[in-house]
Amino acid sequence: MANEEKQFVTEITPQKEDFSRWYIDVIKKADLMDYSPVRGCIVFKPDGYEIWEHIQAELDRRFKETGHRNAYFPLFIPESFFQKEKEHVEGFNPELPWVTEAAGEKLEERLAIRPTSETMIGHMYEKWIQSYRDLPVLINQWANVVRWEKRTLPFLRTSEFLWQEGHTAHENEQEAREETMRMLEIYRDFVENFLAIPVITGQKTPSEKFAGAVDTFSIEAMMKDGRAVQAGTSHYLGTNFATAFNIQYLNRENEHEFVHTTSWGVSTRLIGSLIMVHGDDRGLALPPKVAPKQVMIIPIGPPKTRDMVIARSDELFTELKKAGIRVGIDDRADVRPGWKFNEYEMRGVPVRLEIGPRDMENGVCVLVSRISGEKKIVQQDRLVEEVQMMLEQVHQEMFNRAKTFRDEHFYSVDTLDEMKASMEEKRGFTLAGWCGSEACEHQVKEETGATSRNIPFEPEVHKTKCLVCGEPAKHTVVFARAY
Ligand code: AMP
Repeated sequence: MANEEKQFVTEITPQKEDFSRWYIDVIKKADLMDYSPVRGCIVFKPDGYEIWEHIQAELDRRFKETGHRNAYFPLFIPESFFQKEKEHVEGFNPELPWVTEAAGEKLEERLAIRPTSETMIGHMYEKWIQSYRDLPVLINQWANVVRWEKRTLPFLRTSEFLWQEGHTAHENEQEAREETMRMLEIYRDFVENFLAIPVITGQKTPSEKFAGAVDTFSIEAMMKDGRAVQAGTSHYLGTNFATAFNIQYLNRENEHEFVHTTSWGVSTRLIGSLIMVHGDDRGLALPPKVAPKQVMIIPIGPPKTRDMVIARSDELFTELKKAGIRVGIDDRADVRPGWKFNEYEMRGVPVRLEIGPRDMENGVCVLVSRISGEKKIVQQDRLVEEVQMMLEQVHQEMFNRAKTFRDEHFYSVDTLDEMKASMEEKRGFTLAGWCGSEACEHQVKEETGATSRNIPFEPEVHKTKCLVCGEPAKHTVVFARAY
């Protein structure tokens, strides 16, 4: 190992030694975030924020393609709004920060800082929706929300986080359920095909569903330490919020009826997920579609050919940039190429482009994949195509590796003892039968530390008996320890 490489690598705790420390080392060293003076809140530094911007841009495009429009609602929610939906208030009350005073005066009614906006939006929809002609309402909001979390971890669980929340209203249950599944499918497709993270889609058990929802659906991803992350949720809210906020409309028979609503969200947690799914002991490995820099050009060779190589590098840079590829060039003279290679590997840049004097003579350059280390000599006059191809390959390879890892850490168990052993000895997800009782689900959590992640739509096997009580299983459930 070259000296430079050693230095980089020793600054990052190996994953096997301490995964949590590895995570913190990587996000700090790659300069994605910093801690803030406020507990549980982080600062998104430009490289971390830009990953979010790429996530936002693509999701926003997909939301609009499916007929949604963006709006913005206030940060503050009057206390009385929360009291209107019983489950909602019970679920969120412990996490709410309150504004009780402003401009030196005590407020007449306390204002919560929104943890989510169903109540505020319910209040507004009551005014906006009169007749079936006003439906469906398909609105999304990009915003920050606050949940005063007890345990926090940068990106994955913060007290203030950035997210989008979709809120839609429909004439009937069928349409609202179709919307719920449509958005879940958008999340699945986006997370798999944009972030290269394989996910399990399914339904949450009643104890894990969103406070106030009829049904909650989720996508669940496996991190490299075997823990689960709930990467996105889509809720069918039935008429719960419509009843609480009296959102009625005149139907086609001229009768008053409650609307059926949905909500769905993903957050900056996705950044934490992609780091924990793809990163390795060298540092970050960013999926090409969200990497702030997709290609980094590093000119190499002795000082006498330096100017010539840099001039050609600049041309290649311009060509790639014109083709819409996010490219950088590192022509610092006082830093050795080996050092630069390690630095961009640590920062997770998907493809490195090396070019030296001999490559110039031959009209070629070298592309190196961050994820596999594969080197490919390519013709300069086919550079754009070659880079595009390699970026696609890197994406596919990242997805395949993550999928293989998940498949290798997916176990099937029949009893609680087996589940305990599995959780103690191996990292990963377990598939088990469940009778549907909250007591059995609770016992799993107490004894193994694992929670039910979801009831997958397509389980590998259908379990017949509850792992705790042995009664016939109502569902086959994925259990895992989770972030
Ligand atoms: P929910 O409204 O609880 O269904 O959450 C919507 C999305 O936000 C889900 O994808 C969650 O995983 C994510 N999320 C929930 N709490 C946090 C948090 N404290 N920090 C970051 N993301 C979160």
